Amino acid sequence: MTCGYQLEWYDLIPLFSWLTLRGRCRKCKTKLSVQYPLIEALNGTMWLVTYLLFDMSVTTLLYCGLISSLIALSVIDFRTYEIPVGFNIFILVLGTIRLIYEFILDHNSWPEYIIGLVSVSIPLLLIYYATKGRGIGGGDVKLMGAAGLLLGWKLVILAFFLGCILGSVIHIARMKISGESHMLAMGPYLSAGIVISIFAGEQMISAYLNYLSSLTVTFIGF
Ligand SMILES: [Zn+2]
Repeated sequence: MTCGYQLEWYDLIPLFSWLTLRGRCRKCKTKLSVQYPLIEALNGTMWLVTYLLFDMSVTTLLYCGLISSLIALSVIDFRTYEIPVGFNIFILVLGTIRLIYEFILDHNSWPEYIIGLVSVSIPLLLIYYATKGRGIGGGDVKLMGAAGLLLGWKLVILAFFLGCILGSVIHIARMKISGESHMLAMGPYLSAGIVISIFAGEQMISAYLNYLSSLTVTFIGF
């Protein structure tokens, strides 16, 4: 960014390039932001967790693509309050691959993904129009549509709730502590909700349903 040095392939190895250069430009020794290795490490860690959870599978490949997109769009949304549409198109392509894959396997589960496409995005779209874009960003609506096609309706609804809880708690804390403005970039929080949902959503949903049915049993028992 400072001297215009063209990066070579060996400058682009995640983590290692930054570490061997000790965080400075090869040519002019300008300090390079610690944000680069941190994000590379976060991405690598999440790819590893995905592999451990879903093995070598189509799901793993699709989720790894999703995770990297979410990290990049979160950083951009955090800085600019805008999610570049390219990320949402990419996630939509991943979702379409998921849909075709499920359809070919015919688990009868493919409608879950079609419902996922609209279950969060359509209510959000109504809020978007009702508030003339002040209640929610257009990028957030598209993100929840595309992610819904990839995750299915259960996980994307959970992801949205988690994102809202994280967003309100963390953003209110930031407004109180560092005097952050009331303007909220939802992308990072929705992304965190999506990642928690793909990693632990199935367990969270079944724990919740077990809890509900235990309430019913208690009630009937009474
Ligand atoms: Zn330089």
